[in-house]
Amino acid sequence: MEIKNVLCKSVLSRSGLKDSKFSINPYRGCSHSCIYCYAPYILREGRKWGTFVDIKTNAPEVLEKELKKIESGTVLISSVTDPYQPLERKYEITRKILEKLKGKKLFISILTKSSLVLRDLDLLKQLNCEVGITITTLNDNIRKLFEPNASSVESRLDTLKKLKEVGIKTYIFFGPMLPFISDKNLEETLKLFSALGPEKIYFDKLNVKNPFQWKKIKTFLEENYVDLAEKWEKAISNNYYKELKEKIIEICKNLSLNYEICY
Ligand code: SF4
Repeated sequence: MEIKNVLCKSVLSRSGLKDSKFSINPYRGCSHSCIYCYAPYILREGRKWGTFVDIKTNAPEVLEKELKKIESGTVLISSVTDPYQPLERKYEITRKILEKLKGKKLFISILTKSSLVLRDLDLLKQLNCEVGITITTLNDNIRKLFEPNASSVESRLDTLKKLKEVGIKTYIFFGPMLPFISDKNLEETLKLFSALGPEKIYFDKLNVKNPFQWKKIKTFLEENYVDLAEKWEKAISNNYYKELKEKIIEICKNLSLNYEICY
């Protein structure tokens, strides 16, 4: 892993996302190395994703200045990296950013695949915030393949439970829904999610708009899930996600879940 300290000129970006006015990415690159990650294509990053992380060492100070120019809105941490990837334990850039956000009239939405977020409970309790945990499967052997360096499934579920116990609002980002994996025992999975008390469950599909990304996923499937490579190819080009959407809506309605389908 190539780790580099970098100085950023700006860290608070206008977000094009529906629910967030701003986003903050304390790092460029992400060592969680999820197979399906599309961040490198958004960033037009030429380096191999998962092999490098740039640490924006001056991000907290830069943010402090930028915060003087804004008054309100939702800030997403993070949109194209994981703010609690393993390096955060040592560098604490996300933690220092949260410190700068204390006392501001902003709503902070954190999204991560890491239980490291629990380290910052003291700060989270002082912020107007919510914490989202991404989950794509309940099977940790599959998780290890698709998200090799992120927290285990058990640890993510436990994180949601602990956050709820101390009164922090939570949500679950169930995505990308991996065809024929995420939807296995969907009703039972959603019942389990519901028992953890999230404010909302978001669903998203696999983003394979970039042909290079699909090529990477397909190669991965051919090496690890031979039978799925062809099935996924068909799924993403036909009605799979449309039918899944109908199934999600039916189950969520039956279970009275607050949900949003992002695709
Ligand atoms: S955690 Fe998010 S940003 Fe990091 S590799 Fe996975 S999908 Fe990409």
